Amino acid sequence: MAKLIDGRTVAKKVYTDLRREIAGLKAKGVTPGLAVILVGDNPASRAYVRSKDRMCRELGLHSVKLELPASTTQAELLDRVQELNRDFSIHGILVQSPPPKHIDEAPIVRALDPRKDVDGFHPENVAKLVLDDPSGFVPCTPLGVQRLLIENNIDINGAHVVILGRSMIVGKPLALLLMQKNKNGNATVTVIHSRSRDLAEITRSGDIVVAAIGRAEFVKADHVREGAVVIDVGINRVEDAASERGYRLVGDVAFDEVSKKASAITPVPGGVGPMTIAMLMSNTIKAAKQSLSRLDDKIRRLKFRH
Ligand code: NAP
Repeated sequence: MAKLIDGRTVAKKVYTDLRREIAGLKAKGVTPGLAVILVGDNPASRAYVRSKDRMCRELGLHSVKLELPASTTQAELLDRVQELNRDFSIHGILVQSPPPKHIDEAPIVRALDPRKDVDGFHPENVAKLVLDDPSGFVPCTPLGVQRLLIENNIDINGAHVVILGRSMIVGKPLALLLMQKNKNGNATVTVIHSRSRDLAEITRSGDIVVAAIGRAEFVKADHVREGAVVIDVGINRVEDAASERGYRLVGDVAFDEVSKKASAITPVPGGVGPMTIAMLMSNTIKAAKQSLSRLDDKIRRLKFRH
C-alpha cells in the first residue's frame, strides 16, 4: 500500500511558518492584505472565495472580498482592479476564475499590478517563471504540488515527472517549475495532453506522475509503474446516491487500484487542495514582504539624497 501524502498536514506546517512571518511584518507596521474579486454567483467559486477569506482572517491578514453582480461589465471590473492596484493596504489581488461569459479574462489579468498578482497569471510572472527569476509569483496549485513533494522527501532532482494536462493554471506552470535549474527542480518533465499518443506508455515511464486533466478516475493502475509517486490534482464531482449531497468528490486517479502500486499518493480530498490555498497565503505574504522592502529602499535612497 502506498504512503499517503497528506496535504492537510503539510498545509498546517506552512501556516505555522507563515504565522511567524506575519508577526514579523506586523511588528514593522505591515498587515498583509489580500483582495479577492468574485463576479457572478457560481456556487463553486463562491465557496472557494469564502474559504480564502476565512483563511486570511484566521491568519490575521487584511481580507477584502468583493462580490460583484454577474451583470458587471468589463470596464467596471477593470476599474475595480485599478482601484485595488492603487490601494496600499492590499498586497495581493485575485480575480476568481471563471468569470461570466461576457468577461474577457486575459485583459483583466494583464491589468493587475504584477507585484500584486498572487495567482501568478500575469505575463510578467509567467516570464519570470520561465527565466528562473524567484522574485515572480508562481501559480498556487503547481507551487503546492512542489511543496508537497519537498515536504515528503520525494526527490525531484533528476526524476522523470510526467504531467497529464497542459493548462495555464496547473500543467504548464508545474512543468516550468519542476524543470527549473535549482535544488527543488532539475526534473526531466514530460507533459501529456488530449492529443498525446501512447499515453499509458509515457505515464508508465514516470517516477512521479501528476494528473491534472479533470477526468474522474482516469489514471488506472495500468498507467503507473510499480513504486511511482502519484499526485492527483483533479477535483471531480461524481453522482453518489448514498451521499447526502447526491455526489462525492474524486480525483483524476483511480485511488483504490493505483494506491496498491504506487509508493506514495495524494488523496482527494485532502491532498493538493489544501496546499493551493496555503500557497495563496504564502504568495500574499511574499508580496507584502516585497512591498516593504521596496519601501525600505525608497527611504534609504531619500536619506542618501539629503
Ligand atoms: P483544464 O484547463 O480543463 O485542462 C485540462 C488539461 O487536460 C488540458 O490540457 C487537456 O488537454 C488535458 N486533457 C483532458 N482530457 C485528457 C485526456 N483524456 N488525455 C490527456 N489529456 C487530457 O483543467 P485544469 O484547470 O488544469 O484542471 C484540471 C483538474 O485539476 C480539474 O479537475 C480541476 O478541478 C483540478 N484543479 C484542482 C486544483 C486544486 O486546488 N486541487 C486547482 C486547479 C485545478 P488539451 O490541452 O489538449 O485540451
